[in-house]
Amino acid sequence: MSQSENDNRRIIIFDTTLRDGEQSPGASMNLPEKMEVAQALVDLGVDVIEAGFPIASPGDYEAVYEISNNIKGATICGLARCRQPDIDRAWDALKHADQGRIHVFLATSTIHREFKLRMSQEDILERMGESLRYAASLCDDIEFSPEDAVRTEIDFLCAVVEKAIASGAKTVNIPDTVGYATPRQMYDVIDTLYNRVPNIDQAVIAIHCHNDLGMAVANTLSAIEAGAGQIECTINGIGERAGNCALEEVVMAMRTRNDYYRTETGINTPRLVPISQTVSRITGLHVQRNKSIVGRNAFAHESGIHQDGMLKNPTTYEIMRPEDVGWAATDLVLGKHSGRAALADRARALGHDLTNEQLVTLFEDFKVLADKKKEVYDADLLVLIEQQTLAVSEEWSFESYQVKCGTDMVPTIQLALRHGDQIKTAEMTCGDGPIDAVILAIEELTGLDVVCKDFNVHSVTIGQDAQGEVTMQLEYQGELYRGRGTSTDSVEASALAMLAAVNRILASNAPEQSAE
Ligand SMILES: [Zn+2]
Repeated sequence: MSQSENDNRRIIIFDTTLRDGEQSPGASMNLPEKMEVAQALVDLGVDVIEAGFPIASPGDYEAVYEISNNIKGATICGLARCRQPDIDRAWDALKHADQGRIHVFLATSTIHREFKLRMSQEDILERMGESLRYAASLCDDIEFSPEDAVRTEIDFLCAVVEKAIASGAKTVNIPDTVGYATPRQMYDVIDTLYNRVPNIDQAVIAIHCHNDLGMAVANTLSAIEAGAGQIECTINGIGERAGNCALEEVVMAMRTRNDYYRTETGINTPRLVPISQTVSRITGLHVQRNKSIVGRNAFAHESGIHQDGMLKNPTTYEIMRPEDVGWAATDLVLGKHSGRAALADRARALGHDLTNEQLVTLFEDFKVLADKKKEVYDADLLVLIEQQTLAVSEEWSFESYQVKCGTDMVPTIQLALRHGDQIKTAEMTCGDGPIDAVILAIEELTGLDVVCKDFNVHSVTIGQDAQGEVTMQLEYQGELYRGRGTSTDSVEASALAMLAAVNRILASNAPEQSAE
């Protein structure tokens, strides 16, 4: 990028998609999904993966444990409060990682001290010092976060940072937990720390911003200008409430404006769009079309004036090249006459190296789809690949349906589902429309009493024959379960989405909950 690479300051990218990101309402992921995201993060080139909060739940512990054991190529981090059981549990989950990091946090702002913790400043310093020394006795890579740092009195924050470093923290993170900071203020906070904390050169200062006022990326960049060395961020900016600093935005801002920031990262930027799409599919959180870098319109130049300029010279309107962030130079279209080699090529370009066996199945699925719609786009292909690679145990699967419906009539549906090696059928007259009828018939056949909390249909690609993707959220015994289904027929896509959610319910409630 720059003429003098050596002037660049290397910024550590700490991704928390699997911890803070997973706290987005409705974004919870199961273990195979977390493993897939973790591997994609390694391929992307992040330095640290925050994989979970091990003491929070058995699922979180298991995810951190499995990722530590199986995903190599990044530091794996687990979160802990300032309590010995938390730290022990985190270390237990992390100890098989090539490089593990325990991330300890304690709130420091007045409002948290008085209303949440009921602790004085002295109590806070003592508790964190003790916890950090204990954590450092187990693991050589310790990070500390004073929660709500931005609303902490600056004198006390300086004392906290100094104490954290003296007690063994190698990274001290400054979180804007509630998304309250402004860019100039953030610069001043980090700058003050660098000027006033005597041992600050012995640690990396990190920045963790929330997007409640839409300033997470701007605040993060301000902290970088003031000297911070680590950015905490998530793919697509997902996270609690309005989310976190978006990895793809902050990385591309530093890269595109290298002339200004003089920084570099280990991020393999052509992996940004593929991982954005993976996280979006897995979490069911769609990326808005006009989202920077990874939105579908981010590189679309529709207006005539712009197109003319683009054709003469792309740099007239383009500050980044689409291929630099992973948009294929051409959205190559495959059709029913495309061969297996073309399909394999396309899959590879999209970041999926398939085995021969997977390719054979993918090719069969592709032929079926190409018969239904003329043009198969990258997004269609990704859906097919995902259906294969993420195939979890399917207790119930879809066979066929028929529905008779119209204005002012209650639909009549015949539905057939496969359960093990049996086909179960139902015929019912019910519901407000065909989709409602299919939902009720699935409830009838599976015997599960669920409430549909969220239902979304959107098209995977452009065109009248585009595939519809349905995402659905079901509530079962107080827990939320997500399912996704894709088909050229939106009623069938709804059935597939509901069955995916049903299979999740059964998998996580086995063995006491059997529909047999
Ligand atoms: Zn956060």
